[in-house]
Amino acid sequence: MQRCVPVGQVSVASHVLVLPDQLTDQVGPIHAALLDVSSAPGVIFIESLDAQTAPRHVQALVAQRSAGREFVAELRARGLNVQALRTATYEEGLTAAHAQAPITHLLAMEPAAPQLTARMQTWAEQTGVQLNIVPNELWLTTRDEWEEFASGRKELRMEFWYRRVRKARGWLMEPGAADEPLGGVWNLDQENRRRLPKGAVVPSAPHFLPTETAQEVINEVRAESAAHFGEVDSFGWPTNRGQALEALERFCTERLADFGPYEDAMSREHEHLYHSLLSSAMNLGLLTAHEISIRALDEFARRPTEIPLQSIEGFIRQILGWREFMHHAYDRFWKEWETSNGLNHTEPLPSFYWSGETKMACISRVVRKLISGGHAHHIERLMLLGNFALLIGVRPQEVDAWFLETFVDAHPWVVTPNVVAMSQFADLGKITSKPYISGGAYVSRMGDDCSACAYDPTLSTGDRACPFTTLYWDFIDRHAERFVKNPRMARQVRSWESRKETVRTAILEEAKLIRARAQRGEL
Ligand SMILES: Cc1cc2nc3c(=O)[nH]c(=O)nc-3n(C[C@H](O)[C@H](O)[C@H](O)COP(=O)(O)OP(=O)(O)OC[C@H]3O[C@@H](n4cnc5c(N)ncnc54)[C@H](O)[C@@H]3O)c2cc1C
Ligand code: SF4
Repeated sequence: MQRCVPVGQVSVASHVLVLPDQLTDQVGPIHAALLDVSSAPGVIFIESLDAQTAPRHVQALVAQRSAGREFVAELRARGLNVQALRTATYEEGLTAAHAQAPITHLLAMEPAAPQLTARMQTWAEQTGVQLNIVPNELWLTTRDEWEEFASGRKELRMEFWYRRVRKARGWLMEPGAADEPLGGVWNLDQENRRRLPKGAVVPSAPHFLPTETAQEVINEVRAESAAHFGEVDSFGWPTNRGQALEALERFCTERLADFGPYEDAMSREHEHLYHSLLSSAMNLGLLTAHEISIRALDEFARRPTEIPLQSIEGFIRQILGWREFMHHAYDRFWKEWETSNGLNHTEPLPSFYWSGETKMACISRVVRKLISGGHAHHIERLMLLGNFALLIGVRPQEVDAWFLETFVDAHPWVVTPNVVAMSQFADLGKITSKPYISGGAYVSRMGDDCSACAYDPTLSTGDRACPFTTLYWDFIDRHAERFVKNPRMARQVRSWESRKETVRTAILEEAKLIRARAQRGEL
């Protein structure tokens, strides 16, 4: 079901615009242009500083700039005429390109951010350039599929989206049964929750030596006056398609089989576990979501006895389900998510989110690995970093800005739905039915951080009380009135309310102390 821009649309264009997160020759206008470079339109690539004005992890900057420059060099080597510009904004870049060689008809794949589409349209109207925005074929699913799914639904839930688009593609379905998921169950999430056993062998994820271009960018970024979050010394992310394909190959052959069972596990020794680490490359366009899915499905078809269904199903669900769902949801709700704060959270983000300096072993470990590598896996993002910010009551947009600044794979279209809606529940359930919260017991069950911590996950009062555990009950208390009406939360509220008054008071007092210590940087 991979779609393709008709060659005709490319041949009438005077120019094709390539955005920094559309670095693909596999689909879209560039794919079509490369079919006949002799008659191909000019290509405009803008390394807009605009895309970088929101502060980013230093490794995100290096990955984006390097991948863009390597892509331009490759297109030139293959015969395309590329104007590469570096300007403050996309509009300035387009204007400069227009001045160099008049643009009559500009062809572009739809930006991932709807805000940019609107800006491009305004620029085209003001300059009289004909702008043709075609669907962004880096996505696996179309807007029509989303509209058909979403229309008339009161609630938008990933699970129903996932079933629908999976069925439409016939992926992981029982042979000859169009409606029957392989193995009889759509979602094997329940089987994705194993703790990593002691002594488990986890193949390392690839770490690429910087290419010549990436090394130049690293030097450039080091020389810039702006201070960026994170360290650049250990940069090892793919910056070209060859590296990205190698990362995909290594994942499918070495880690996919164990991806499912340990998807939610956390480990001090194995920071990436069996995760794919493909998000950075995918979000830049170096790999398409379609080819990743097909490669993984193909590996499953080749090794059905070695790759359990829960691994391939879990992986396909992340990409076809969650990733696509979040992208469409962002298109629909981004405006309201800019201000959503349904739980009225107003606390500032504790300073240890930047430094990692906290006695909480779990948070400290994850922030430190963010500083050095720009990556943490999903459960660490959701159930450690996001969970703690939610429990302590940080303003959702501050959490959003922090996530955007501290991850190598961060782009607003994926950060905001995951942070504001999913993790901080700030829209009160546009795309999820309950907040993702837990106390220390969950962290203790899923990993080994608690064994190295100054706090005790079982305690909610006293000097060694785990801040997660105390603040979990404090959160339930603060929002009891709302969540007692939520069938998925009511049990926790009742459990809290059934506790003795003295116990509840002690926990709430402890929560106040924890909050104060967090703000003083003493937690
Ligand atoms: C609070 C929070 C913030 C997040 N921020 C980002 C972000 O900045 N950039 C980003 O790409 N993802 C983000 N995610 C989603 C997910 O955590 C990452 O995609 C994943 O951890 C990336 O690592 P990986 O490539 O090893 O993923 P794997 O675990 O190997 O999963 C495979 C792929 O599935 C996709 N995926 C899985 N879950 C999601 C999801 N919830 N939303 C979108 N795609 C998903 C990703 O493309 C990922 O590469 C966030 C999730 C949360 C809860
Ligand atoms: S005891 Fe609490 S703070 Fe410490 S590692 Fe466990 S969950 Fe994290």
